[in-house]
Amino acid sequence: MNLECVQCFMFDLDGTVWLSDTLLPRAKETLDFLRARGKVMYLTNNASVSREKYVEKLARLSIPASVYDVYTSATAAIDYINANMKGARVYVFGTTDLVQEARDGGVNVCEKEPELILLGFKTDLNFNDLSALCTAIRNGVPYVATHADPFCPVEGGIIPDAGAFISLIQTATGKKPLAVCGKPYEPMLAGAVKACGTEAKYCAMVGDRLSTDMEFAMRGGMTSVLVLTGDATKADAEKYRRAPDYVFNDIGEFGDAVKSRCRKI
Ligand SMILES: [Mg+2]
Repeated sequence: MNLECVQCFMFDLDGTVWLSDTLLPRAKETLDFLRARGKVMYLTNNASVSREKYVEKLARLSIPASVYDVYTSATAAIDYINANMKGARVYVFGTTDLVQEARDGGVNVCEKEPELILLGFKTDLNFNDLSALCTAIRNGVPYVATHADPFCPVEGGIIPDAGAFISLIQTATGKKPLAVCGKPYEPMLAGAVKACGTEAKYCAMVGDRLSTDMEFAMRGGMTSVLVLTGDATKADAEKYRRAPDYVFNDIGEFGDAVKSRCRKI
């Protein structure tokens, strides 16, 4: 798909739009231009922070957005639960933001005797909670994971992410998740495309990670745009099972390419 025909631009956030609290080069300029031409959405696998908080952070960085422009792996998981197990008693293993998002999204959140477990990312892990979680899963309670990223880069190293929790649970219980919802998996694809109101073939996914962002675009039949400000290098992209449709040094350079193509039509 040519960039000038794209109707919805989906952007990853960490490593694509910003690094920690700093916007990447000319991110605002690019996003302002695209917002004036069509739909811009922000897709993140980070389920530990609510959509409202992402909107607040974007606003702090002078990028106006509404909660409907943000789609996280938590949103995908909530949509998945509502579509497949509406009304089930759900125990949420994640941050207080995830618990609140689930409640606000109409999930029947419970503390005891769950029929389903929603597994997210959690930093205040407690061994007893983890043991209780594994016991419930081993005893037959199915679980749905928000996302499966193995780690999250932070200043000075990495922290284990939800994918590492899944490995731990699977090793302890022998049970796989019923579904993983974030990029590159089907619940996020279906949910984000529905939320943007067009077909996947008219969408482009702009991101920094091959196994999530680019894989998401490739599986969904979207235009794939890799930026080199985060996880993947150009060499990684060349070695990947399929090269992304476009590779740019950063979001600003991507914006230049869209602008120059759009001027020609
Ligand atoms: Mg990223």
